[in-house]
Amino acid sequence: MAAAKDISIRENDLNGALLASIKLKGKPTNQGQGYCGICNNRRSLSLLPTPLQNFLLCNTCIEDLPSTLSGVLEIDTKKAFATLKSRENKRLNARAAAKRRKQNSVESMAQPYVEIGLAQVFAEAIARDHSISDSVLDLWEATWWNQYEPDDPMIISVLNGQFTEAEAKWMDTFRSDHPDLVWALLNDSVTTDWARALLDSGFNGNIEQVSAALDGGSPKIIARISKLKCNADMIPPGLDSPADCTEPSIPVASAEPEPEPESEEEIALSDYTHEVEAYIDRMTKTAANNV
Ligand SMILES: [Zn+2]
Repeated sequence: MAAAKDISIRENDLNGALLASIKLKGKPTNQGQGYCGICNNRRSLSLLPTPLQNFLLCNTCIEDLPSTLSGVLEIDTKKAFATLKSRENKRLNARAAAKRRKQNSVESMAQPYVEIGLAQVFAEAIARDHSISDSVLDLWEATWWNQYEPDDPMIISVLNGQFTEAEAKWMDTFRSDHPDLVWALLNDSVTTDWARALLDSGFNGNIEQVSAALDGGSPKIIARISKLKCNADMIPPGLDSPADCTEPSIPVASAEPEPEPESEEEIALSDYTHEVEAYIDRMTKTAANNV
């Protein structure tokens, strides 16, 4: 079963959405000519389904009934919204608890390394994923990144396994000239192969030209316009679309905890659908009694 998707709902959106989804249940039965109970025009009329069977309306007015009723009826979505909100809270609490459990286990698995002097953030990165331990320890031993904070996106990309220490060290060699290229790499907007080819073909240090290529221009054409001395065979093709060069915010823990099983919840929600239908039914009946 696919995991249920979350959407965020505003109370007034819910009002509008529910109004738009009211429709007539069952089919009206044809009843010959007569005067329509709403517009008073003489037309061919139909009977509404029970319990509104005493209403004779023309087909146009029947079609307009949902919007006509929405002029006199109001759906009170407070209850629906409160129910949805309490479900949302339960879900968030469950996720927070799962995250805490996971964090606790990460911390306890990191503890042995912390005890022998490894900094917490490195120990936790290893505890989360043993397969990146070499790369994380390379970073721990290296000094090239001392100018950065440990929460720098490029450093985090090593701690969460997105890139190796060697790749981050390579990015550092051109970051001062081409920060946009580093961000594009961290955003997975360009590949390391493409970036390497671009820089090594002769773009390295040509700030505007690298940016133009990231904006989607053909490197070959850019090189000719700017008269760059390039190795033509190495120049990579242009990007399909402009790269995302915004500074990324990469979470240290790459994976969100697994969502709790939602089957029980789905059942509850389908119950709730009946409740909404019953509610709309009641509203229709109330309307009938009041007319
Ligand atoms: Zn009518």
